[in-house]
Amino acid sequence: AARQAGGDTLVHYSESLNAQAGLRLDLEAQLRRAVERQELELHYQPQQSLSDGGLIGFEALIRWRRGEELVSPAHFIPLAEESGLIVSIGEWVLEEVCRQLSQWQADSGRRLVVAVNISPRQFAAPGFLAHIEALLASTHIDPSSIELEITEGVMMENAESAIVLLQRLRALGLRLSIDDFGTGYSSLAYLSRFPIDKLKIDQSFVRNMGTVKQQSAIVQATIGLGHSLGMTVIAEGVETEAQRALLHSWQCDEIQGYHYSRPLPARAALNFLQGSVQLRAA
Ligand code: C2E
Ligand code: MG
Ligand code: MG
Ligand code: MG
Repeated sequence: AARQAGGDTLVHYSESLNAQAGLRLDLEAQLRRAVERQELELHYQPQQSLSDGGLIGFEALIRWRRGEELVSPAHFIPLAEESGLIVSIGEWVLEEVCRQLSQWQADSGRRLVVAVNISPRQFAAPGFLAHIEALLASTHIDPSSIELEITEGVMMENAESAIVLLQRLRALGLRLSIDDFGTGYSSLAYLSRFPIDKLKIDQSFVRNMGTVKQQSAIVQATIGLGHSLGMTVIAEGVETEAQRALLHSWQCDEIQGYHYSRPLPARAALNFLQGSVQLRAA
């Protein structure tokens, strides 16, 4: 009976494995086609300076337009990362951001910064630096209008080589930020050695700031830490005026979140840019 049960279990196990693998392969094939058919698009979320209320720039956030639905990156970036597709997707994102930046500069006469998310596999890929160098050489984008967002995991996984690569990117004139700060495992000893311009406080800390005392303490301490390391500090996921006011009172430099604006399609982002009072960037 035990053997039979074992057999049954095995059958079910392998069946469900096949089903899972099938789903995965299917999604992977769909994603591959999506890249070829140009079904990926970028939305742009505005970032605001707390000192003067001006627009700093945008974070580019990828979406997959699959028929009628707009698929969230949470549903396909992990798969793209596992399958390696992220390398070509990431190259497309950087190219699209450069194209968009030059168009916005031409349309608005204003300079701004666009932040781009860089995934671990993309950062570790051998051609990453060369692609960026080639891209900068072939466009007339001011490198300081591009900010690369990396996570603590990416930095700490292979810290010594990450420092070297980040220094090269910095030498090209790009800006660098740490995304989702506080959710990973940063070594404070290393943190001061990374050539980072901006620290992005993860939205999970911002969310409960008003109600959970410890969360407020963490946010305040992180702002202090960032400043003492010479970094600009931005808070993510700011949804309310109360959160904005608290962050402002704690000398946080910038905010990003639904309170200022949701992520916008490119055309709406241009309208936002043209309607914004000031531009502190560049
Ligand atoms: P992230 O880089 O931390 O981006 C911030 C996420 O928070 C975005 O989700 C944004 O829409 C959302 N958000 C912004 N303000 C608020 C707010 O006030 N409240 C709440 N609840 N959420 C807010 P999104 O667009 O779904 O992106 C999720 C993640 O997917 C990103 O997190 C990033 O890790 C990844 N991602 C997005 N675009 C790309 C890309 O082009 N390349 C790579 N490698 N990853 C990307
Ligand atoms: Mg980000
Ligand atoms: Mg983030
Ligand atoms: Mg995130």
